[in-house]
Amino acid sequence: MTGWTHLFVGTAAGVAVAAATGHPEWPKEVIIGVAAAAATVPDLDAEKSLIYQFVLPKVDSKMRRLAIGAAGLGSIYLTHYSYAFLLTGLFLLLTAIFPHRTFTHSLLALGMITWTVYLIDPGLAPAAFAGYASHLIADSMTPHGVPWLWPYQRYFRIARVPTGSGMDHVIGLTALFGAFFVWLIL
Ligand SMILES: [Zn+2]
Repeated sequence: MTGWTHLFVGTAAGVAVAAATGHPEWPKEVIIGVAAAAATVPDLDAEKSLIYQFVLPKVDSKMRRLAIGAAGLGSIYLTHYSYAFLLTGLFLLLTAIFPHRTFTHSLLALGMITWTVYLIDPGLAPAAFAGYASHLIADSMTPHGVPWLWPYQRYFRIARVPTGSGMDHVIGLTALFGAFFVWLIL
């Protein structure tokens, strides 16, 4: 799926969480923002992901991986402040080491991100979980599939929608408009 589809599906996941939880601690916009952001994180390992059009757009992929790995080590160094830094650091290191659609597209990564956000603020964890999971589910609808059980190397798929195809855009736009209408009545 394209980065925009992930962003829109993540937004829809955030609206669903905001509707389901009644957003007791945080404004619904924050819940939706966290889910949308979380939905872009798995492609931190991808060459041309949406996230890199905003962060480090001109850096080549080797330098990018080095930067991600260095940021990971830096984060681990800050572990004594919070275990959130340790988890973030490990996440970044594994992202830097392993190829696209491996570690970041797994239940392990989903758990690490959810736990990290839980340590920062438990009220935001459901949004992070839903946004990140929405990415893995959306990519499970592509021919390539997703290695949910990584490091076990089996790729799971529930459909074969090619990335960038008309159906890809239809899914993204349907999620966006659906999210917008539900948001209006929240
Ligand atoms: Zn992906």
